[in-house]
Parts: sequence; C-alpha cells; structure tokens
Amino acid sequence: MKHDTTSPPAEPPAKGFSPGFAALGLEAALLTTLDTLGYEEPTPIQREAIPPLLAGRDLLGQAATGTGKTAAFTLPLLQRIAHSARRCPSALVLVPTRELAMQVGEAVTRYGKELKISVLPVYGGQAMGLQLQALRRGVDVIVATPGRALDHIRRKTLQLKTIQMVVLDEADEMLDMGFAEDLDAILEQTPKDRQTALFSATMPARIAAIAKRHLKDPVEIRIAKEPLKAGAAPRVHQTAYIVARQHKEAALARILDVEAPKSALVFCRTRIEVDEITAMLTSRGHRAEAIHGGMNQPQRDRVMNSFRAGQTELLVATDVAARGLDIPSVSHVVNYDLPTSPEGYVHRIGRTGRAGREGSAITVIDPREQRLLWNIEQLTKAKIVVTPVPTVTDLRTKRLARIKGEIEEVLAAGDLDLFRAVAASLADQGDPLEVAAASMKLLFRMQGGERKESDIPAVSSRPPERPLMARRPMGDPRGRPGGMMPREGQGRPFTGPGRGGRTAGMAKVYIGAGKEAGIRPGDLVGAIANEAGLNSNVIGAVEVMDRFSLVEVPEVLAREIIETLSRTRIKGQKVAVRLFMEQPRGGGRAGG
Ligand code: AMP
Repeated sequence: MKHDTTSPPAEPPAKGFSPGFAALGLEAALLTTLDTLGYEEPTPIQREAIPPLLAGRDLLGQAATGTGKTAAFTLPLLQRIAHSARRCPSALVLVPTRELAMQVGEAVTRYGKELKISVLPVYGGQAMGLQLQALRRGVDVIVATPGRALDHIRRKTLQLKTIQMVVLDEADEMLDMGFAEDLDAILEQTPKDRQTALFSATMPARIAAIAKRHLKDPVEIRIAKEPLKAGAAPRVHQTAYIVARQHKEAALARILDVEAPKSALVFCRTRIEVDEITAMLTSRGHRAEAIHGGMNQPQRDRVMNSFRAGQTELLVATDVAARGLDIPSVSHVVNYDLPTSPEGYVHRIGRTGRAGREGSAITVIDPREQRLLWNIEQLTKAKIVVTPVPTVTDLRTKRLARIKGEIEEVLAAGDLDLFRAVAASLADQGDPLEVAAASMKLLFRMQGGERKESDIPAVSSRPPERPLMARRPMGDPRGRPGGMMPREGQGRPFTGPGRGGRTAGMAKVYIGAGKEAGIRPGDLVGAIANEAGLNSNVIGAVEVMDRFSLVEVPEVLAREIIETLSRTRIKGQKVAVRLFMEQPRGGGRAGG
C-alpha cells in the first residue's frame, strides 16, 4: 500500500542552489541549509532514497555509515513533518547506540535549522529527569535507542500516537544487540498508517523478516556495486588511518607533516571542509590551496596554474571541483573523508600512480566508516593497509632525516662561499660540530619542528563483519574474527555455552540484576557498548536470569568493563558487577 503524499510541493529552487539536490524535490529551506553546509551534490543513496521518501513511500535501504544515509532519511523526514502539528513527536528515529543517537540528533538539528525543528536524543545512561522535562515540553523528532524508548513508553512518558514517520537506522546492529522484540513492541505503539524507513549495512534474512513485518510495499535500494573491469583499479600503495572523529584534523596534519608530499590532492566532502582544511594546512606551513564549486573561473585558473607550476603542494578539493579539472599526476591522493561510493574512491585515486610512476593513496576515517573500506577492498581486490597515525617521535625522526637529506644535497651541490666565512668564524669560537648542530636546529625550528604536538589516541579497528545470516560472527576486540556465538534475545533459542561452560579467551561478568529488575539482554549489551566505548560485536553470550545476569566479554577487557559498569546505572540502578568465577559442577552460587 502506498501512502498519500502530504508534503506540499517543493518551491522552485532559487538560483545558486545545488541543482542535484533541487532536482530531488527538496524545498527551498532545506536547499539553503545544504548550501550553507557546503554540500555540492547528493550522494548515491541520497539520490535514490530522497524522492520516494518525499512521496511518502516506505523504504528498505542497504547503506553503511559514511554513504550519507543520515541526510538521505533526515531531509525527507524534515520536509514531511515541517508543516504539520508541532511538538507532539512527529518522527521517531531508532538507532543502536548512544553515540549514534547523539550523532543523528545533531544531524537532525543541523539539517532542520531553517525549518526550526526540535529534536531530542533519548538514550540509556542519561539522567531520566532531563529527558522527562524535554518530553513534557514537547519535541518534533525523537532519536532514541530502543531500550530507553521502551522504558519511556512503559512509564507513559513517551506517547507515539502522533508519529508520522519511523526510521530504523543500522537495523542489523540493533538486532545484533538483542533489540528485535523491543523494536516490535515500539512499532506496535505507532499508528498503522505511518511511513517507515529501514536502513541496514547488511541484509540478512532477519532484516528481511523485520522489514516484512513493519514496512508496506517498500521501495528497495541497494547501491549496486559494479564490478570493476580488470586493470581498472590503479596500482597504488593504499594506506588508511582510523581515528576518532574529533582527532581527524590533527591526524591529517600529522600524516601530511610526515609525508611532506610534493604534489597531493586532498579530497574533502564539503566546501566548508575544503576551506577549513586549507586554512589549517597553510597555518602549519604547507603550501595549500582550495578549489571548490563556490569559486569563480578566474580564481580556479589561478589556483590550478600555481599547482601545475609546483608552487602549491597541496590542492584541497571537493569531488565536484576536481571532476572537471585537468590535473597532472600527483604523488599522493589523500581522502580526508572517504567518497560515498567505492567507485568514487577508485576515481579519486586514479589521479596518482599514472604512467608507471609510484603513487600513494591515504585515507583518514573514523571507526564507524570501516565498512566502506572493506567494500573498497572487495571492489578493487587490493589491500588497504590500516596503519597507526605517526607519533610525535615518528614525526621528529622523519623531520631530522629530511633535514639531513636536504643538507647532503646542498653539500653535494657546493657553492657555499657566501657561508663559509661565517661558518669559519663560528667554528673559531667553539666546536664545529656544535655549529653544525645549531644550524640544523634553526632549520628544524623553521620547518615547524618545535611546535607543541601531542600524540593522537589510537582506535582499535573492527573486524570485517560478514553478512548476518543465522548467527552473528563475533570478533575479538583487536580485530580478528572469532567463533560464532548466539546471544539470547535475538529471536532464536539460546544455545551458548551456558553457565557451566566458557569460551576460550572470554571471561564472564556477573551483574547483580536480572529479569525481576526488568533487565533485557539489549540493556546489558547497550550499557557495555556505550559506557566502555566498545563495539557490541566483542560481547559474547548474554544470560539474563531472574535475579542476576552473566555476560561473556573478552578476557583482556574484563577488568575495564567491570570498572566501567560498576560506575554506571543500569536501568536507573546501581548494581553489583564482578568477575564470575566458575563453580565446580553442581555449585550453584553465582558471583565471584
Ligand atoms: P553518514 O553516512 O550519514 O554518516 O554521513 C557521512 C558524512 O557525510 C557526514 O559527515 C555528512 O555531513 C556528510 N555528507 C552527507 N551527505 C553529503 C553530501 N551530499 N555532500 C557532502 N557531504 C555529505
């Protein structure tokens, strides 16, 4: 069944807006916002998802983080609710984790700025009081984790009768965390004629089942991955650095300081980013210039001439700006953000390693975008080496080596008459070695070597997740895929090792609350994932008994998890948390 189209027709776009976004039917207020954000064109998932969502259709979309899927559902959601009754929640977005609830909440605020839409992120671990106050005042969009949403529904502090649109974001991960039944219970509270969109990075049978239950005649979107023609993928040394979002800029600076490329293209997603990154690199002494769609032809010509002449080392660009340019082969292509499709990546890195020369492709991503890397590896059949961000010591070593090389070149070239007399007079006053060292120190300082730098925290990389078929592959926290481990509450019988057994490399954590306290497996997985900042796929079997629960976690992380959980409230309560000691068979006491 199709839904009625209730959004008013989009106003004709004003001149200057991205024609790509305007063609999708978005209204002027949203186009203005996108323009302010510096988005130049829609990503593939946005191009496919926005028109049917604006038309009121249900949607089943396969898309990973980093493809622009948040805007793909948020923009139509905003347009559809903007003109209806306010502050009586009109839209509900369900997401697996607190981190994502905050991120999506921020995105809704950002995209809904012109439309003055209010949004409330609702997640576990946050004080109930604040959420209750905000709910009482009224909001337009709620972005919630399933556990906390259900708590509010049961307390009757969240009422979903006015919901027009529901989005299930990262549905596979929500099922993975044991939220299947919670999702059913929440959706039951929303009106039957609501619009529903489901996004998932993978499309296993369990997702198909939930889609069948809750979506009506959905438009299905899969961004097709065209296999590349043999030889189409360039032979380029590919490296990726995985850092938390807040350290990305510092990481980029560090990597470029170490690499010091003579000619590089640095790709960003938006015009704003291009300008910010150019300013940051220039302030660090790099010869960087920006090029993007907001510049006129004479400005672009000047930048390109300077780059071709080798006066500019780093050309910072959006895809759109780079597309029309005749750019000579560069030594490095740097992706400050991954492009939104693997094909886009191949296109970008094709700018280096041409005509048999060596090329380097460098990518900086945040941990949630790793899936895009794997998609690219699959498409290009080439390895992308994940490498730690250089440390302050690495940078210093590299700088000194570079200075040494530069001095050797100058020595070889000779022509030092002008300096020899000064050097001789300095050497007369002391040790010639000291004089040489002092000269190097000066060079080091001039190249930014004495700037205060700090190390950038490492992030553990996640294992590639296989499609979620009947069971979820479980990886160890450092990235190697492990064995298969089912978890209770995932809509199938629990068949894990049970209280009697233990999986190698895993420890059991005892939590002093169970079914009687209203604990569900998802609450525990959610609390561990959120509070200890771990990916849910490192957590093994979860057993919820009447009065206590047992959770399998990697041995190496057990202490950290116990400490974190001891400080956390689970379902609003402080609970005892400790290592669970296996009792000899027949010994019934739980807890260590
Ligand atoms: P997501 O896949 O939703 O997590 O989005 C990944 C990133 O891409 C976010 O930082 C967005 O701000 C950015 N983004 C989304 N759509 C576009 C677009 N059309 N142009 C440029 N950046 C975008």
